[in-house]
Amino acid sequence: MGGGLAGLTAAIHLTQGGHAVTVIEKSPYPRHKVCGEYISNETLPYLKTLGVDPMKDGAIPIDTFNFTHINGKNFRSSLPLGGYGISRFKMDALLFEKARDLGCTFVFDRVVEVRFEQGLFYVETANDKTFKAGLVIGAHGKRSNLDVSLSRKFAARKSPWLAIKAHYTCDVQENEVALHNFKGGYCGISKVEDDAVNVCYLATYESFKNYRDITAYQDQVLCENPYLRDFFATAKMTFKKPLTIGQVSFDNKELVKDHILMCGDSATLIHPLCGNGMAMAIMGARLLSKTIIKHYNLGTLNREKLEADYQKAWKKEFYGRLRAGRMLQSVFQNETLSGLTVNVAKTFPALIPKVISLTHGKP
Ligand SMILES: Cc1cc2nc3c(=O)[nH]c(=O)nc-3n(C[C@H](O)[C@H](O)[C@H](O)COP(=O)(O)OP(=O)(O)OC[C@H]3O[C@@H](n4cnc5c(N)ncnc54)[C@H](O)[C@@H]3O)c2cc1C
Repeated sequence: MGGGLAGLTAAIHLTQGGHAVTVIEKSPYPRHKVCGEYISNETLPYLKTLGVDPMKDGAIPIDTFNFTHINGKNFRSSLPLGGYGISRFKMDALLFEKARDLGCTFVFDRVVEVRFEQGLFYVETANDKTFKAGLVIGAHGKRSNLDVSLSRKFAARKSPWLAIKAHYTCDVQENEVALHNFKGGYCGISKVEDDAVNVCYLATYESFKNYRDITAYQDQVLCENPYLRDFFATAKMTFKKPLTIGQVSFDNKELVKDHILMCGDSATLIHPLCGNGMAMAIMGARLLSKTIIKHYNLGTLNREKLEADYQKAWKKEFYGRLRAGRMLQSVFQNETLSGLTVNVAKTFPALIPKVISLTHGKP
């Protein structure tokens, strides 16, 4: 359920592993998504084994991190692993084409309900179709109608975050992902293919609610940071209007709910300032696919053991990054602490790559 990065990666891996996979996705490809569009190099060797190489499709290599504070101070650091910039418009379409060419079935419809009865799933869609399956992966992203229908706890809680993204043309440092702090959030800027510049920011509702629209908010809040002021003074937006999403939740979520195996953001979203959510979606899909293939190869499927193995492996792989991400988020949300971080980073530059490594995995 869901053909974003997690769903598509799992679809390719499982199809290559000899399984019959159907992806049910509500939005046809290609389409833009709210996302910073910087992907860690952790993913590259694995993607190549799946037959997908973003670097051959125009992705931009990125090896430097630039953090700027509202007070005009900044620090630059090398990125220990580095990454690449590619739009979700391009990346999701690349994975979709690969999965489709391998023979994976695609259904463009919205899943509205899932039932598990006597060892089988019944997946119902908005167009009144019912699909039967032995296994279901929940790869439906941060928050979906499905989370409500599955009565997931986080879906009942309000989140204080919203996010906004658009592409621009502007002259920016090509090999750099920048994170610009402002009161109430932070804004990522980096290049993607075809000379486009992605601008994507996370902001609290609290800081946004007093402004009449996105332009007023950007002019009066984001542009307090001199780097963002300079950027917006010269950059030209290429989208008709920015994309927005609300209720961006960083709560812990169940990794397995009603026997559905959750993957990607449906399993938990790491704070975007880490630039690791997409890697976690891709590498999480790898981990899940490998666990599924291993269990099916045993002959009879022991669902309980499969679910337990997956949860154990997921926690081992990702808990450390999530913890580090939460810690960094609380530092960067605080104006004084983030100002101090700039000073510390300038005095001890070797510290920053070490901290970044805590939020990332290895290839
Ligand atoms: C502001 C912001 C900036 C970010 N920046 C970065 C970054 O720079 N680098 C990084 O690595 N990560 C970043 N992330 C995180 C990253 O975007 C996610 O971790 C990643 O998209 C997760 O992929 P996914 O496949 O789990 O979910 P998604 O990509 O959201 O895919 C979910 C899919 O499920 C479909 N779907 C949902 N409900 C249904 C339904 N009922 N039926 C059928 N289909 C359904 C959706 O249409 C969608 O295609 C950022 C996140 C935010 C909020």
